[in-house]
Amino acid sequence: MAERAAHTVPLVDLAPHHERVRSEIDRRIRTVLEHRRFIMGPEVEEFEERLAAFCGVPHAISCSSGTDALVLSLMAHGVGPGDAVFVPSFTFVATAEAVVLVGATPVFVDVSEETFLLDLESFGDALARLPSNLRPRAVIPVDLFGAPCDYPAVRTLCGADGILVLADAAQSLGGGGPQGRVGGLADMTATSFFPTKPLGCFGDGGAVLTDDDDLAAKIRSIRIHGGGEGKYDNVRIGLNARLDTLQAAILLAKLEVFEEELRLREDVAQRYSAGFARVAATPQAVSHGYRSAWAQYTIIVAERDLLVSRFRASSISFAIYYPEPLHRQPAYREFPVAPDGAPISERLSKSVISIPMYPYLAPEHQGRVIETIAEHCN
Ligand SMILES: *Cc1c(COP(=O)(O)O)cnc(C)c1O
Repeated sequence: MAERAAHTVPLVDLAPHHERVRSEIDRRIRTVLEHRRFIMGPEVEEFEERLAAFCGVPHAISCSSGTDALVLSLMAHGVGPGDAVFVPSFTFVATAEAVVLVGATPVFVDVSEETFLLDLESFGDALARLPSNLRPRAVIPVDLFGAPCDYPAVRTLCGADGILVLADAAQSLGGGGPQGRVGGLADMTATSFFPTKPLGCFGDGGAVLTDDDDLAAKIRSIRIHGGGEGKYDNVRIGLNARLDTLQAAILLAKLEVFEEELRLREDVAQRYSAGFARVAATPQAVSHGYRSAWAQYTIIVAERDLLVSRFRASSISFAIYYPEPLHRQPAYREFPVAPDGAPISERLSKSVISIPMYPYLAPEHQGRVIETIAEHCN
């Protein structure tokens, strides 16, 4: 058993990362246990200031999860019944779920075969041919697997209609583009600190990043029951969607090594790219001028089931993100889809596979992954 575990190549191994930050995390947790301000303690504000500085935006508002970061953003913009929010069908369910939770209608758009990100033509068509009972209010491009979307192009398509561009950056914090870092590329950016995301805490957590003072103030109010100036003023409908002080303390310790871990992820990605240069597995393309946070390394392969058996036989861990596009899921089937459907999303869900990726992935382990894929493809 132990021998087999040592032999396994994990998809993600948090142990070496925890080893690096353990003493700083212990110190910060002890401080919280001493001051006992478990809700909205000083670490929350300190973390928000550091995160805003890291992303180069004026406002970082922490919250209870990436999903709630999306919900808070939509609520702050006043998105609700009768509003259409465009979302890619090839994404994690939370992107569309947040839209439905605020009473709006998700309109599913296809993705690009090269980048796996929002397809501009499909978005343009969906916008132009929106059912007349819906008002276009927002688009949520998803920086799936860590690479940011081409936000200026999305913005151009939105035209002068005042459509909110809300980035789902749950997997791309630390990535960037010619216009700056993720967090400053869209009107609002929602991110997640789920433990296996590039910057993860020890539970659930998230944040919204924005340069809009008014939206930032609204989100701060909504995340604590829609509060106003006084402690028991309720000026709008809100939620209980705060980040725990303990999670903020943990994130402060982890933020110190984040920049370096992003570089390590980039090294791992480059070793993969070199290894795959002569192999028929196509990795997700990163748009020109953009930098991925490499939350995942995902490739397209033929005969995926066969590769899955090879991985199992070689004790290589993998994941299928995501096996079914959202417009095909029972809970989301009834919502509108772009005029030409979402055929690329359907195709990708049958051919993608995510392979081991984390900052401390050993070159020997990585070599085994590349070798197994090369055998499969050649
Ligand atoms: C993880 C994830 C979310 C949700 O984040 P949680 O913190 O788990 O709520 C949303 N969108 C995408 C693309 C994600 O990967």
